[in-house]
Amino acid sequence: MKDRLKSVHSRTVHGSSCNPASPSIKGSAEQTLPELLRRQKYQLVGNHSAVKKCRWLHKSLTEGRACYKSRFYGIESHRCLQMTPSVNWCTQRCLYCWRIQDGEAQPSSSGLKPSEWDDPSELVELSKAAQRRILSGYKGQAASGNVDLGHYREALEPKHAAISLTGEPTLYPYLDDLLGEFHRAGMTTFLVTNGTRPEVLKHLSEEPTQLYISVSAPSPERYMEICRPYSPDSWQRLMETIELLRSFSCPTAVRLTLVKGLNLQDHEGYARLILKAEPTYVEPKSYMYVGYSRRRLGFENMPTHLEVSEFSTRLARLTGYDVIDESTESRVVLLSRLGKPIRVT
Ligand code: SF4
Repeated sequence: MKDRLKSVHSRTVHGSSCNPASPSIKGSAEQTLPELLRRQKYQLVGNHSAVKKCRWLHKSLTEGRACYKSRFYGIESHRCLQMTPSVNWCTQRCLYCWRIQDGEAQPSSSGLKPSEWDDPSELVELSKAAQRRILSGYKGQAASGNVDLGHYREALEPKHAAISLTGEPTLYPYLDDLLGEFHRAGMTTFLVTNGTRPEVLKHLSEEPTQLYISVSAPSPERYMEICRPYSPDSWQRLMETIELLRSFSCPTAVRLTLVKGLNLQDHEGYARLILKAEPTYVEPKSYMYVGYSRRRLGFENMPTHLEVSEFSTRLARLTGYDVIDESTESRVVLLSRLGKPIRVT
């Protein structure tokens, strides 16, 4: 593996269609991107990756409450490690993304640009170590009984990797091996991709436990407006991924991030894409007004759960999928042709 990593030493993370992030943000000109990411509570690991505490890990430990992925698929929120192997690189600049994007920072963030790709097995170990650092904040509460000691101990041994935090994971050239390493470590994986790199998905020898494709627009025009891809052929690439989805044997999901005033419309357009992809699930979910998306969108762009639910019911009628579950708090609905979702643990 080491040799293989060296052989791509000179390949940049941006390969063909992705743009580098930049370093210091307007209004905070002295801060480098790594500093800003650390301030946003990212645990930077290795050369190009990060782990971040999910708010549901906190809720799970302190309130005994679990996220919608627990409700739908059986993921234990306190044992879920949220990470990305591409912390600030992506092929798109979605308006709704919480990530710091190009133009929102000065060009000195090249400090995060990998000079060498990290070994996937090291990445798994570094990610688990970062998760333990995050959890060290709960040690005292576990000792004093404010956090269940058994849950705390379980949390130190994560069972699930959500490869979805930020950035586009298919830019990491060893994604295949990373999935394999997580699986060998006894963990399940949920991989979320924006679908602009079908060639990577096509050649995966190790499938994730569940594969998500983000579809954020029902038409190419809307897509260019909302996702702002770097490459002009990104919509065609996404369509290629949609065609590819049926070839996966793992459960697949089409994630619709719904932004009021932007893409909470054209049910027929979405239905056509879903019928092409035939995913196991469709997850229409509200955009969340968080992170750097607040510089691009307003609070009013966040649909209510009722709006997501009405949208989903209409989509279900058009596709023949059923609404099989929902989470009001997370403003997400689950559609499927299965009577109930597959539990992954
Ligand atoms: S694809 Fe994901 S990481 Fe990339 S800009 Fe869009 S929301 Fe952000």
